[in-house]
Amino acid sequence: MPNCAAIKQTVRIEDVIGRVVSLKRPGHWFVGRCPFHPYSHPNLVVWPKTGT
Ligand SMILES: [Zn+2]
Repeated sequence: MPNCAAIKQTVRIEDVIGRVVSLKRPGHWFVGRCPFHPYSHPNLVVWPKTGT
């Protein structure tokens, strides 16, 4: 049975967040609209390198 640490190493953060928020990739990072705030401009940044 997989544990949380193994799943975190297997699943890419941009894939998980990309299911909820449409992400654009201007460089080595992704930007999208934060689902927790009503702003229309992209204010959510995802860094695949650090998984944050
Ligand atoms: Zn927010």
